[in-house]
Amino acid sequence: MKAIVETGVKQLEIQELPTPVIEKDEVLMKVRANGLCTNDIRDYLGDTVYSFPRVGGHEFSGEVVEIGSDVNPEHFQVGDHVVKYIIPACGECHYCKIGRENLCVEVASSPTFQKPDGISGFFGMAQYIAVKSRDLYKYPKDVPFTHSAFTEPLACVVNSVERAKILFGQDVVVIGGGVMGLMHVMLSKLQGARVIVSEPNGERRALAEKLGADVTFDPTQGDAVAFVKSQTEGRGADVVFNTTALPVIAQQAMDFTATGGQTFVFSSLHPNDPVPTNMGAIHSYEKVITGTVSPTIRTFYRSVQLIAKGLVDITPLLDKTFDYKDAVDAFEYALRPETLKTIITFD
Ligand SMILES: [Zn+2]
Ligand SMILES: [Zn+2]
Repeated sequence: MKAIVETGVKQLEIQELPTPVIEKDEVLMKVRANGLCTNDIRDYLGDTVYSFPRVGGHEFSGEVVEIGSDVNPEHFQVGDHVVKYIIPACGECHYCKIGRENLCVEVASSPTFQKPDGISGFFGMAQYIAVKSRDLYKYPKDVPFTHSAFTEPLACVVNSVERAKILFGQDVVVIGGGVMGLMHVMLSKLQGARVIVSEPNGERRALAEKLGADVTFDPTQGDAVAFVKSQTEGRGADVVFNTTALPVIAQQAMDFTATGGQTFVFSSLHPNDPVPTNMGAIHSYEKVITGTVSPTIRTFYRSVQLIAKGLVDITPLLDKTFDYKDAVDAFEYALRPETLKTIITFD
């Protein structure tokens, strides 16, 4: 099979690798579409702790082309359209047992990230992947692969938004109008919030409004905190989702948050510098600051429901599609800050 192998910083090669041989409890999945995540771009640029060579890609969808003998044919058959839960959770540690697979203690050391004597990676950028049937989720065949490939990023946002337990009519600020920010807009609207988006790029603000944002503003013009307060009866937002990576904006996220409100650190920080935090204010105003990372098995499943049932239409987030042979072009395209989701397809 062909795979897009990252052999070093900014070095991609289409290589011929052995097609995986499935175990009895596995299916062979033919990858059809794979979205490029900011993390893939960071791998490409060398801002990564993962080992090279690497086959990245964790936002993929595809079809079943072979079934192991122990896989229940009532559940999966050749031709099914599927996605895979991608966190290599062990299923055995404390966090796996309490349903927080995204925090599994074995993940960081798994061969997905560190494989000194082989190829690390999620392998969404390979033509075939062997998948345990328990990690598979089925899609109706009329959902395009380019849409089901959004399951993983949307599942991260389901994890974030569900944890906020938004009440009808609450004020939500979403910082950042990229793909992750826009998904926060859509899901917060589904939960009945009034959504305010902080985003400097005018085109993205327009798209946020099209996707349901009630108010958008450019945080680089004037006093952003004062603006948010002016929109929320002087309080600030009940819930703030920060989908941007700069530490200084993480601080602003806390300032946007009302007394009794919640700040969600959705993105990883780059650079990962400490952010001064007013712990006294957290005490006095009962503010909650929390992080969200990756999807759990349950939020992954709910993401499938949202896309499969058309409750979330991710079409506006789809930017450009590239054939896998043009992987370098795809990565260079995705690098540009104004792109939305770039997808690599395999035929
Ligand atoms: Zn991702
Ligand atoms: Zn675990």
